[in-house]
Parts: sequence; C-alpha cells; structure tokens
Amino acid sequence: MSEATAAERSIASGYFKKPYEIHGKYSRSRGSFIALINSYDVEERDCKMGYKKICELLNISRSTAVRTIKQAEAAGEITRVRNKTYTEYHMKDIMKGEFERVGFWLYAFEFKIDGALRKLTKSEIDLYSELYTKITDKENKEKAYYGSAQSLSAILKMCPNTVIKSLRALMKADLIYRQKALNGHEKSRYTLNMDFVRALERDKRRQKKRKAELAKREADPQAAAREQAIAASDERAERERHYSRLRAAAERIAEDNRRRAFRDTEYKITDGKLSDVERRAARAEAFGAENLPELLAEVKKIKARKSALLSGMGMSESDLQPKYRCKKCSDTGFLPDGRACDCYHPKR
Ligand SMILES: [Zn+2]
Repeated sequence: MSEATAAERSIASGYFKKPYEIHGKYSRSRGSFIALINSYDVEERDCKMGYKKICELLNISRSTAVRTIKQAEAAGEITRVRNKTYTEYHMKDIMKGEFERVGFWLYAFEFKIDGALRKLTKSEIDLYSELYTKITDKENKEKAYYGSAQSLSAILKMCPNTVIKSLRALMKADLIYRQKALNGHEKSRYTLNMDFVRALERDKRRQKKRKAELAKREADPQAAAREQAIAASDERAERERHYSRLRAAAERIAEDNRRRAFRDTEYKITDGKLSDVERRAARAEAFGAENLPELLAEVKKIKARKSALLSGMGMSESDLQPKYRCKKCSDTGFLPDGRACDCYHPKR
C-alpha cells in the first residue's frame, strides 16, 4: 500500500484509535502521534507515512514530529524502516486495549470560542474524544455521559482545572452540552451536538462513496464509464420529467383561467374586437395611414375593457399566462445562454 492510500483511508474512516493506556504515559502531542502509528499497526501491520502527512493530520509542527519520533525510537517504542518514498513505522508493543476514537476533523476544524476562531487544543480533543466514544457507543441507549471533572481527570490523566477549562471551551464551541449535577450528585450529564455529528457522518459517507466509485473506475474503467453514462442519462431524464411536470401544472392553470374567461360572452366578443382592431392598426402602421392614432387609442380602450371584465371575474391578465415557478428559466431548467439553471431541487 502506498503512502497516499494509507493516509487517505484513515481520513475516510474518520478517526484513529487512542488506547487509554496512552494517557499519562506521554505528552498529549506525543500520545496522538504514538496512537496514530499504533492504530495503523493494528489494522495494517505497518504505518507508512511521511512526516508531512502526520504533521498535517495531527496539526503538529515538523519539529514536534521529529522530536517525538526520535524520543519514541530512543525509548524503543517504535522502529522505523526508511524506504525511498516513505518511512514505515512499527510499534514495539502494539496496544490493543480499550481505546477512544479520535476524529481527524478534531485537528483540522476551527471553532468559535470566546469570540475567536481557533483550532482545538490537545486537551480539548482528548476530552471530546472520550465523550464521543462513550456517547456514540451502541450500548449507550441514553446517548449521554455522566462524569465529573474528577472522574474525567482520572481517566485522561489531566489536571482537573484543565478538564474544567476544556469542557467549557467545548461547550462554547457548541460541540457538547452539559446538564449540571443536581445537589447531592457529583456527576454532570453530557450530551453531544448530534446535528454536528450527523453532518460529519454524512460527509464521511459521501467521501466513502466517492472513493468506492473511484476504486471501481480503476478496476474496470469501461464498466464504470457505462454505469456512469446510464446514471447520467437517468438523471437527465428525471430532470426533464421534473421540469415538464412543473410546466404542465403552470400551463394547466393558465388554460383553465382562459377557458373560464372565454365562457363570458362579453369577454369573448371584446377579445374578438381587439384582434380585429389590432390587425387594422398593424395595417395602418405599415401603410402610414392617418387613422393610426385613433386605432391605437381604440386598442388601448378595448384592452382596458378586457382587464375590467377579467377583474370582474376575479382574475387579471397575468392569470391567463402560465406562472412558472422559476423566473430565471421559466421551468425549462435552462437559462437563455444554455447553461443549466440552479433551481433543480428534486425531492429525494
Ligand atoms: Zn430555473
């Protein structure tokens, strides 16, 4: 497996595993680093990554990464095998105990905390990961976490003040919610902003789907192209059906109104008269006849009469014309310059 695919796979799956035993054993930066390598080692038996990728994923500086690797190597925790294009890391003792799931997005996203946009600190990331792992566990029917600064501090080997500060920041970032402990209970109830979690999962699924499609295309380019062509043609047909339904509905209403108007005898006669006078006015204009102004005044009068008759029926001129939902493309799906209109939102 190449460097890129290993790294990409880890992002697609969204998280790496951080064993509990990591807490307290290493500094938080070093801990994430070791956990990332361990996570790969468990699943893929090796972790082939350059500094650059690791720094990018964990949002750490290159010098921290270099120091961490050197220290871990000196301590005999990891060994590395250098290749031409990548470096392969191996954990000496792979940790397989219980772990927290740490999303890569926690290192990448910025959140508004106390009025400023910033990335999460390593402590905040560890705290969120602990809450996330416990709350999203299938066995956790209540989808809540009961804990106190003390209990969290013991699990994460974090100073209680840091726990309190970090929890506050996570709440301000709108990532977690807290129901304060009642008197006599020392544990507060924590829940996650599930809208946010769900949005992330949607993104993840989309990403996964894109990757699967890419893999398929690589495996059998012709079949993939055929499938894509069929999908595109189905999509086009559905789009056309969508717009033709919209147009038909608008046209049916206009046609009904028109029929209603022409059932009125006076309206029908006035309409006939208008056509006649308009024809004569056009001829007068073409031949430069003197009675043109008179005829035009007549046209105006008859039009006003028609409008008055219509409004007597509770309608206006525009009710006789189809009222398309989209003013830009008149429900054709295409703009005058041929580009597709942005009003296509089929119901799923
Ligand atoms: Zn449109």
